[in-house]
Amino acid sequence: MADLKIIGARKSFGAVDVLHGIDLDVKDGEFVVFVGPSGCGKSTLLRVIAGLEPVSAGEIEIDGVRVTDRPASERGLAMVFQSYALYPHMSVRENMGFALENMGLPKAEITSRVDRAAAMLRLTDYLDRKPKALSGGQRQRVAIGRSIVRDPKIFLFDEPLSNLDAELRVATRKELAALHAEIGGTMIYVTHDQVEAMTLADRIVVLRAGRIEQVGTPLDLYNRPANVFVAGFIGSPQ
Ligand code: ADP
Ligand code: MG
Repeated sequence: MADLKIIGARKSFGAVDVLHGIDLDVKDGEFVVFVGPSGCGKSTLLRVIAGLEPVSAGEIEIDGVRVTDRPASERGLAMVFQSYALYPHMSVRENMGFALENMGLPKAEITSRVDRAAAMLRLTDYLDRKPKALSGGQRQRVAIGRSIVRDPKIFLFDEPLSNLDAELRVATRKELAALHAEIGGTMIYVTHDQVEAMTLADRIVVLRAGRIEQVGTPLDLYNRPANVFVAGFIGSPQ
């Protein structure tokens, strides 16, 4: 688990400014949700935090350590995307343990980490199956399991449920909430789904066109939206 500090983060692609100076503190163990319309920079902000894109200006700190120039592999983060690319020829156990093998962990340690994550995600009975013999929700849980076994300091989720149908979204969302309650990790979660944001978040960050419009608890934003945009996005009556 870890704190995350974003200080004046800017990102441009060529002449296009996508992030206009983002300041944000995320506390250890917090579940923070980024919301905002398509194209407002949610994924870019996540990729900048992850180290998959360099910032154009500003700083990123994890646990008080400047990681701005460090590659993704040295930031202790795990990222779960909406398109969960599992290896089709590998079993669930192999998919979940693959990264740990690459890290050179002993076999017994890999087995115990995978078993623990599988139990949390209700995948114990599916460990010997191939991805094609799983439902969409189970596949997404394997993708989440792959990140859990690495014991990351911070989890980053980019619209992880958006490929699932409505019923599965609700079920998987509840699992994510339970998971957070159980492992207590610092989680940053991108969605454009207001219900997901309101039910999962300790705090919501509302983004518009590369700027933060407001940061607050779901109740704060609902009861005291800073402006009409936030009110409209959160679904508040104001
Ligand atoms: P969101 O995730 O909120 O939908 P993105 O972060 O994906 O938004 O994109 C924000 C803006 O940045 C969009 O206008 C998008 O076209 C642009 N953008 C994102 N990635 C790149 C890139 N690699 N090169 C050029 N423009 C990009
Ligand atoms: Mg996106």
